Amino acid sequence: MTDTPTQLFIGGAWVDAADGATLPVDDPATGEILCHVADAGAKDAKLAEEAAVAAQETWARTAPRARSEILRRAYELIIERTDELAHLMTAEMGKPLAEARGEVAYAAEFFRWFSEEAVRIDGGSGVLPDGRNRMLLSRRPVGPCLLITPWNFPLAMGTRKIGPAVAAGCTMVLKPAPQTPLSSLALAAILQEAGLPDGVLNVVTTSRAGEVCEPLLRGGRIRKLSFTGSTGVGRLLLAQSAEAVVRTSMELGGNAPFVVFEDADPDKAVDGAMVAKMRNMGEACTAANRFFVHRSVAEEFGRRLAERMGALVVGPGTRDGVDVGPLIDRTGRAKVEELVADAVERGARVLVGGRAPEGPGCFYPPTVLTDVDPGSRLMDTEIFGPVAAILTFDDEDEVIRRANDTPWGLVGYVFTESLDRALRVSERLEVGMVGLNTGLVSNPAAPFGGVKQSGLGREGGRVGIDEFLEYQYLAVPVS
Ligand code: NAP
Repeated sequence: MTDTPTQLFIGGAWVDAADGATLPVDDPATGEILCHVADAGAKDAKLAEEAAVAAQETWARTAPRARSEILRRAYELIIERTDELAHLMTAEMGKPLAEARGEVAYAAEFFRWFSEEAVRIDGGSGVLPDGRNRMLLSRRPVGPCLLITPWNFPLAMGTRKIGPAVAAGCTMVLKPAPQTPLSSLALAAILQEAGLPDGVLNVVTTSRAGEVCEPLLRGGRIRKLSFTGSTGVGRLLLAQSAEAVVRTSMELGGNAPFVVFEDADPDKAVDGAMVAKMRNMGEACTAANRFFVHRSVAEEFGRRLAERMGALVVGPGTRDGVDVGPLIDRTGRAKVEELVADAVERGARVLVGGRAPEGPGCFYPPTVLTDVDPGSRLMDTEIFGPVAAILTFDDEDEVIRRANDTPWGLVGYVFTESLDRALRVSERLEVGMVGLNTGLVSNPAAPFGGVKQSGLGREGGRVGIDEFLEYQYLAVPVS
């Protein structure tokens, strides 16, 4: 912790906020302040934008192999420093150390993947239909980008954006969430050490998100916004981006259905549910939010899930043997408490958990609710906590209709041993990703993203770099 930078990173230098402001970073396990970091205002954001704009032209002309090797070196440095980065993440975000180590590996993989993609940016050529004109297509970086990340995966949400931007030749201003600025600052230091030229990445930590981001989006020099966060904020940023016609990629909220058919393997279904619900204490956009279980297997599924959830150890993420850390803050926990209270008032039965412990920290126990009324608020709100809400269904058409009855469409989970049904149901689900007999879909080599109000565009996979590239077409008449 002692060497983690706490200043803004602008033009390759570590600097204080122009007005000297700082913001506290809390440990959600104790509620105590860990440290203070610089709190950027509009003036600092402008300087960061200027640094990104100034670096853009040279960076775009840097050899793809050079960009690739910077990412590769950064990947190796992250892996070497896994323990240090995991401790930092656990301190500011709360997730157990084992999960934090897992996120470090996941985050690093985006750099390795995009180091490989940087040298595979292709173009094209062709004869136009008139037989006389030729076309030459080249791909160019879209230009300076604004990257805005949430607190739930402090390192991976950064590398998932920085990796393709570096590979494509874009410069960046990164604004991380104020709850978890330290992971992003540590990442900037690693990239600098890996040889990233000054000004290519600039990091502004701030408690004044609107004041910092809106002028950049409206100003006309930032050419791309890549945002991960809630749908409400995404909508606002889309409106702000419209003015200067800024290109956008939006990774927004989810309301994932988790469907267990009567022919599902019960072991796979419960294992999948534990991952889809409990990864990151349920604080994931991919978290299963609505469990639809066939009436004939619902009781057994609920009982087995409650046994597994009840056996998890809750406590500070740094303590050995802890499976479930604290939620991000008091507001996050209060929201979970309200959603559970609402469901119980409407008749839900609590199989396990359901009551926040006394004492410091933002802990909430793993909770399983059955007989959940479809009108409960947690059916159309991201729970963002360790609460599994189970409803029953009777037939396939009904469950598909109910699963799709939401404005979101990020991910769905389907458990069945019938290949025919698996494919049929997956094709009918209105989601960008499906976990078939698995509770985990995230992988740097796969295109991550949603449909409907869960977002626009994809991150990762072969298409992830496309979000940061434009085509240029050259018309060439040949006589
Ligand atoms: P959030 O409140 O939308 O915040 C996300 C980021 O946006 C934070 O850095 C936040 O900073 C910033 N922000 C808020 N208002 C802003 C404004 N007016 N201008 C510029 N930036 C602004 O979301 P969160 O609570 O941090 O994260 C949880 C949400 O993210 C969930 O909905 C989850 O599903 C979603 N998520 C989606 C994905 C995906 O890939 N689809 C992945 C992870 C998380 P401040 O906190 O300072 O406002």
